[in-house]
Amino acid sequence: MESVVLFSLGLVLINAPSPMLIAVGMYLPLETTSAIFVGGCIKALLHWFMRRRQVTGDDANRVESTGTLLASGFIAGESLTGVLLAAIVLAKAGMLTSNFPHAIGSFSLAPDDAFYSSFGGTPFMDDYLVDLAISLIEGEDLGRDDAVDFLSLSFSALDSAGHDYGPNSREALDVMLRLDRSLGRLFAYLDERIGMAHVMLSLSADHGVMTMPEALPVLGLLGRRVDASDVVCYQKSQEDFQMHFGRDEWFIEEMYLNYETLGRRNLLRSTVEKRLAESLERCAAVEKVWTSTELESQSPDLEQNEYLRLYRNSHHPVRSPDLYVQLKPLTLNSLGTETTHGSPYEYDRHVAMLIRVPGVHGRRIADRVRTLDLAPTLAGLLGIAAPPDLEGADWSRRLVPLGVD
Ligand SMILES: [Zn+2]
Repeated sequence: MESVVLFSLGLVLINAPSPMLIAVGMYLPLETTSAIFVGGCIKALLHWFMRRRQVTGDDANRVESTGTLLASGFIAGESLTGVLLAAIVLAKAGMLTSNFPHAIGSFSLAPDDAFYSSFGGTPFMDDYLVDLAISLIEGEDLGRDDAVDFLSLSFSALDSAGHDYGPNSREALDVMLRLDRSLGRLFAYLDERIGMAHVMLSLSADHGVMTMPEALPVLGLLGRRVDASDVVCYQKSQEDFQMHFGRDEWFIEEMYLNYETLGRRNLLRSTVEKRLAESLERCAAVEKVWTSTELESQSPDLEQNEYLRLYRNSHHPVRSPDLYVQLKPLTLNSLGTETTHGSPYEYDRHVAMLIRVPGVHGRRIADRVRTLDLAPTLAGLLGIAAPPDLEGADWSRRLVPLGVD
């Protein structure tokens, strides 16, 4: 506000007619001030018209009052239209209300589009999935003969809540409590229909999530989300690259190089990647840029870096991008208000893995396992031969020691 105060003082000193109005106007967004501008133009036209018609005295006052009312109407009307538009946008986006507990959808006497598009972001989606699972089990008559039936379900409400509100939010806790209840309902149903002695269960997740940077200090940690300066740094790298190699269609999209351009300009992919990686690595948010040449080479010295194996596992020589940007730890790749996952750090990739084997007592195994191990382990437990090229390790012997059945 200091700049506005100083500016008003300046306006008073130069004898401006309404310094406060001008100063407030400076502070308002263009969308709002544009209505004031239109109102002002109408008033100026009115004055010009009155001068031409030589309107004076009471008549002039009456006309001026009408003009002021009209101009104010434009300004107030703009605000009202803004509120109306906001309501329409909100209804269209199907957003939940911002306070917990949330309302779903918007002002409507019946479930409408806004309601249904909000529904996907609520914990009730998981309970709805349990209904679907029960219909599937009945419709397909699962678990009724000697053959193994496999049913895979994805309870995704926690992902939405995690993205929108963060893992430490009331919303995430609410989803967990309700998911627990929904799973309880499914298990009770399975027990009644098939009998839990015949049901093997496994629960896991495909990723974790980063705590909202704003909530990190509570945990004694410091992090941040990327901001405009990081975007500018990326853009400068791209500009530096274009200056160095000449302007051209260098990229197909994001981190995918255009090999046609490289061929036409007789440039090695590794040369171009190296230049880009070096310049991006100068950006404050960037920890390291991995190039496809680096990931595809088998050079042993690279094994020094613990993240190399992870990026190498994620890389497909034909389908993957040419560059991977690894941001610094606890640096969130989101310009908005949400949080996300996708980094190689523990908080994004450490997930639980639970397997319930009928007849085996529950216990915790502290060995480091991978989600990839789940398929061969389930196959091992069920006595199904896994294809020889299936990735992952079979832990079934560890879960069911020999002699126990
Ligand atoms: Zn997600």
